[in-house]
Parts: sequence; structure tokens; C-alpha cells
Amino acid sequence: MGRVWRAPAGAFLYVMGSAHKIDVSGLLAGNRRGLVVDDLVPVAPFEGVVFPEAAAVHLELQAAGELLEIKGTIDVPRRTECARCLAAVADSMHVKVDEQVEAGASLQDGPFEESSVLTAGRLDVADLAVQLICSAIPIGLLCKEDCKGICPRCGENRNSTECECNGETSG
Ligand SMILES: [Zn+2]
Ligand SMILES: [Zn+2]
Repeated sequence: MGRVWRAPAGAFLYVMGSAHKIDVSGLLAGNRRGLVVDDLVPVAPFEGVVFPEAAAVHLELQAAGELLEIKGTIDVPRRTECARCLAAVADSMHVKVDEQVEAGASLQDGPFEESSVLTAGRLDVADLAVQLICSAIPIGLLCKEDCKGICPRCGENRNSTECECNGETSG
């Protein structure tokens, strides 16, 4: 059933997204071999995480029968605070994209159940990117793996100060 992908890289059509919606109807109809999308997507703050710069989205799209295969990467700087010690955290997220979206069908499974990223032959790159970024944010993000947190007694940040309470067992 599925067609084998044989096109050289030069057969890709490069698209610079502006409205963040890419027409993939030609791809799904078999008129094109593949699409490469590079887009910058602003991301609204999500669960205490702020994205000061737009996400750099690079996607390679390919039709496989009834499916749209989406592979690529998303890179976005993020700012938040440590869930344990409340120190500022500033780093970047790198999200690997490897998704298959059913063309035309309403999406019930996977990370896209809330809204349809593919409607009427148009892929909503912004919606896709935002959903993938938000689902990749870990719960309880820490400034470092072994963050010692804040002393519940005296309120000192145990990463920088060894408070007197350390080692006390009786309460
Ligand atoms: Zn911390
Ligand atoms: Zn203490």
C-alpha cells in the first residue's frame, strides 16, 4: 500500500511559514514528494514556563498513504523557576518531532486530541509546535538534578547554605 520514499533531497519544496499554516493537500494527493517547513512560532507561557523567543521549528513532511508523516526538531529558549528551590532556570528545549497524523480524520489519539493540527489539507505548524513543546515540559522542572531545595524550617536555599537544621530528625 504505502509508497516508498525515493525522492532526492532536491525534490523537497521549501516553505517559509508566515501564517503558520502549510498547505499539504498537494502532498497528500501525491503531487509532491515532500515538504520542508522552517517556521518561527511564538509560544505563550505554559504552567509557569515562559518562552522569551519564538520556537525554531524545522519539519520534514511526507505523505504515506492516509498518513502525514512529520519529522523534525523544535528548539526554543525557556525561562522558569526551579520547582524545589525557586531559583531562576534559563535554558533551551530541544524537542524531536516524529509524528504521524491521519489525513482528514478527526484526531482522537496522541497529543493532538484537543485540537486538530491538520484540517482541510492545511497543517497548523504553530498548533503542532505548541502542543509538542507543552507536552515535553517536565512536571517539577529542577535547576539541577540534585537540587537540595529550600529548608522547610528556616527557609534557606540548601544549595548555597548549609543551615543548622540539616541532619535534625526530631521535630
Ligand atoms: Zn533548585
Ligand atoms: Zn534550615
